[in-house]
Amino acid sequence: MNMPTEQAALVPAEATAQTQSNATQAHYDKSDVTLRDRLIEAGILIDTGEDGLYGRSAIFEDIVERLNQAITLLGADQHAEVLRFPPAMRRRDFEDSEYLKSFPNLAGTIHSFQGSDRGHHRLLEALEKIVHIGEEEERSDEWMDQQKPTRLVLTPAACYPIYPLVAKRGNLAKDGATFDAFSYCFRHEPSIDPGRMQMFRMREYIRVGSPEQVMAFRQKWIERGSLLVELLQLPFEIDLANDPFFGRGGKIVADSQRAQQLKFELLVPVATPDRPTACLSFNYHMEHFGELWHIRQADDAVAHTACVGFGMERTTLALFRHHGLDVKAWPASVRELLWGDAAPIISKGLAKMGQEA
Ligand code: ATP
Ligand code: ZN
Repeated sequence: MNMPTEQAALVPAEATAQTQSNATQAHYDKSDVTLRDRLIEAGILIDTGEDGLYGRSAIFEDIVERLNQAITLLGADQHAEVLRFPPAMRRRDFEDSEYLKSFPNLAGTIHSFQGSDRGHHRLLEALEKIVHIGEEEERSDEWMDQQKPTRLVLTPAACYPIYPLVAKRGNLAKDGATFDAFSYCFRHEPSIDPGRMQMFRMREYIRVGSPEQVMAFRQKWIERGSLLVELLQLPFEIDLANDPFFGRGGKIVADSQRAQQLKFELLVPVATPDRPTACLSFNYHMEHFGELWHIRQADDAVAHTACVGFGMERTTLALFRHHGLDVKAWPASVRELLWGDAAPIISKGLAKMGQEA
């Protein structure tokens, strides 16, 4: 997620990608609105009865794991510090992040019963209450009155726990810092689009440093992300994007984010009928997080940050969409990348781009 505050320079390859994508967008007709039902019927995704909340089968999980390994190989030369957090963060840090300013509708707080025996009694009584909605009977949600906020919230993006941690460590080294994060994330956006889940995993690389370091990182990852998706034999385009800022003011912030070209997405046709789905995103936050958390470069200047986010579920869904539900019938080179020896395939791809790992 980005908060635009000043003009950002764009490297030429990004501008080219954008022009190309404008040309391809017009021909978009690759949706498959049957995907969700087909995956559920095949037992690959398990319906829980709530839109956007699924169980995953062994094969789905295996693909996520193999993709994750391919991403590790792709970033081996980054010497990123690997950090893993549970899918929750300190509420205090979340409040400080200003997420609620931009996306109050997506946030997930964690509540818990913290009362006495009397409160417990009230809770159990309230659980028995039934409300009538038309013909239907439903349990009242009055029992929730007994629940109180905890000091935790659900993580909205894998990079969020990283920034307060970097800040605590003091000034950055001269060449900044790079992190590797992976987390389940929560966003309250129930949908029947299988690509829009409420809980999903994001793998991220995060760069913290000078504007030049951070912009070079983003450009590198636009190219590397494209390489991965090419090796997966998925059709894609890179396009300028914006985050879904909330409210009346949100449109202005989104327009400004676009004008400053802070967010790019790698889009693949998955299930939605109107447009392809963002499977990877490449975000430049400028000094937004640096200022919020007081992250300093070696020379005391405010640090800039960027991140590349790989949507693990969306990329997996894209593979099923384009190669079919039977993984044994997937193209040989895709199978080799995921279940064979991925290292030489990836180093060859990187070498071709002049990015030897
Ligand atoms: P969108 O515009 O579709 O809401 P996004 O590009 O704003 O998504 P980011 O905030 O950049 O999403 O998150 C990084 C990555 O996480 C995305 O590129 C995508 O692959 C994945 N992602 C985001 N939201 C969801 C979701 N609701 N379900 C599954 N994956 C998601
Ligand atoms: Zn991020």
